[in-house]
Formats: sequence, structure tokens, C-alpha cells
Amino acid sequence: MSTIFTQIVEGEIPARIVYEDETTVAFLDANPLAPGHTLVIPKDEYERLNDVPADVATDLYDTIHRLVPVVEDVVDADATTVAFNNGEEAGQEVPHVHCHIVPRFEGDGGGPIHAIAGEVPDLDDDELDAIAADIESEA
Ligand code: 5GP
Repeated sequence: MSTIFTQIVEGEIPARIVYEDETTVAFLDANPLAPGHTLVIPKDEYERLNDVPADVATDLYDTIHRLVPVVEDVVDADATTVAFNNGEEAGQEVPHVHCHIVPRFEGDGGGPIHAIAGEVPDLDDDELDAIAADIESEA
């Protein structure tokens, strides 16, 4: 069963497509958090960011890079929140990688990315050093 976004790519369900190239497509979110809320996806179905091959990831970023200033300009936004919900526990509902470009306006009542945190951990220096070392050694 293909994802709803693959059905959009295939033209099986309608969407307000705003950009398309060989490997990526962008369209307006059906339930916008702000005017101009846009989703950017790889045309092929990958569930998580790390499932996306490097060349397609580059294309995806190129499309995000192209569209962010356009979206800001068109809706006269002051800024944008640009983010991926990467995995179900992070709030990803559609298992097909998608980048949210959400226009932001002064006084819009929204929060920063930091607002996603539930219980914030209290990590001491040793714990932070150990985490940094583990990530560095595997990066
Ligand atoms: P997620 O929670 O997976 O990061 O975000 C999925 C997004 O896809 C939501 O913002 C939702 O409004 C949007 N969405 C879900 N179904 C459709 C659809 O059929 N068409 C469009 N354009 N957007 C959709």
C-alpha cells in the first residue's frame, strides 16, 4: 500500500503542487499551520531521513533551499520553521519523508523547535562528554 504522498506524486489524489523536478516534489499542506505551509518530499517512498540515498538527500535539500525564500516572500513571512518529524515517536504520521516549511510571523503565538521537548534532561558534564564522544566516534 503506497503512502498518501506517493498517491500525490502519482497524480492519484489532488494536491496543490508548487514545485516538481526529477526526484522531488513540493505541495501545500492540506491542514496548514500557517498560510504557505509547504511539504517537500522525495518522489520515491522512504520512511525516515536516513533511508534516503545521499544523492536524493542532496536534491531534497536543494528543493528546500529553493523554496524557503519563495514561500517566505509569497506570504510575507518574517521567518520559517523548517523541520522533519523523523519517526512515529517524533510525531511523523505519514511514513514518507517530508520536510515542513512553516511560515512564521511576529506574534503568531507559536514556539521554537525547543517547544517539542517534554521532560528536559538534567545532564552533567561527564554525561555530555560521553554522549559527544559516542556520536563523534560513529559519525
Ligand atoms: P507529519 O505529522 O507526518 O510530519 O505531517 C504530515 C502532514 O501531512 C500533516 O501536516 C498533514 O496535514 C499533511 N497531510 C496529510 N494528508 C495530506 C494530504 O492528503 N494532502 C496534503 N496536501 N497534505 C496532507
